[in-house]
Amino acid sequence: MPLLIKDLHVRYGALEAVQGVNITVPDGKVVGILGANGAGKSSVLKAVAGTIRSAAGEIWLDDKRIDGMGPHQSIKLGLATVPEGRRVFAGMTVEENLRLGAYSRNDKPGIEQDLQTMFERFPILKERRKQHAGTLSGGEQGQLAIARALMVRPRFLLLDEPIQGLSPVITDLFFDIILKLRDEGVTIMMVEHNVHFVLNLSSYLYLMEQGKVRIEGEPKELTSSEYVQMMYLGR
Ligand code: ATP
Repeated sequence: MPLLIKDLHVRYGALEAVQGVNITVPDGKVVGILGANGAGKSSVLKAVAGTIRSAAGEIWLDDKRIDGMGPHQSIKLGLATVPEGRRVFAGMTVEENLRLGAYSRNDKPGIEQDLQTMFERFPILKERRKQHAGTLSGGEQGQLAIARALMVRPRFLLLDEPIQGLSPVITDLFFDIILKLRDEGVTIMMVEHNVHFVLNLSSYLYLMEQGKVRIEGEPKELTSSEYVQMMYLGR
C-alpha cells in the first residue's frame, strides 16, 4: 500500500483539528477527501506533505515512514503537492517557477523535455513563460501550480482544492490531466469541494466531519447514502 495514514492527529494549540484519521491510498488510484469547511481535510493533506507536524499517528509512503519529514525530504521520495490557494512564487517568472519544481532532480535532458511537455499541456504558460507569476490570472496560476508539481515527476500527488476558481474549460483540462496521471500510475490524494469532480475521479472517498472520517466508501456507496445525498448532492 503506497500511502497509509494511521490514526493521525493534528493539533493547533488547544484545537484538535484531526482526531484519529485512517486513510489508505492504493497504488495508482485517486482517493478523494470531502467535507465541510473546517473539517480538517487540508490539515490531513499538509501533514502528509510535511508542511505541518502531526501530533500523533503514522504516515507511510511505501515502506518509509514520512511523518516528521519535511517537504524537502518527501519530495525526494516523489511526493509533490499542489497546495490550497496555489502559492506560486510571485516574483519569479513562469519558467523559473517550473524549473524550481524540478529542483530535486538532476536529469537535465528529462527536465528540458518535461518543460516542453508542460508548455504543450498548458499553452498559456508557454505564452507567459517570461512573465512574473504574480501577474498571472487566478486560473493561470492554478495551471502553473499543477504544472510545477508535475515537474517533480511525482509518484504521489497531493491536490488541495485544485479546481477552486477555475473556469469550466480549465476544470475539464484538469480532469483529463488527473485521469492521464492516474493511468500513468501516479497515486493521487485530493481534497476538493466540487463533489461531482471528486466522485467522477476517485475510486474511493472519505468524508470528513469535525476532524474525523464520518463515511468512507466507493463513489457508488457514497452517492447512495442518504446523508451524502442530503448534505452534498442536494437531493
Ligand atoms: P476548508 O474546506 O475550509 O479548507 P478544511 O477541512 O481543509 O477546511 P482545515 O484547513 O484542515 O479544514 O482546518 C481544520 C480546523 O483547524 C479549522 O477549524 C481551522 O480553523 C483550524 N486551523 C487550520 N489551520 C490552523 C492554524 N494554522 N492555526 C490554528 N488553527 C488552524
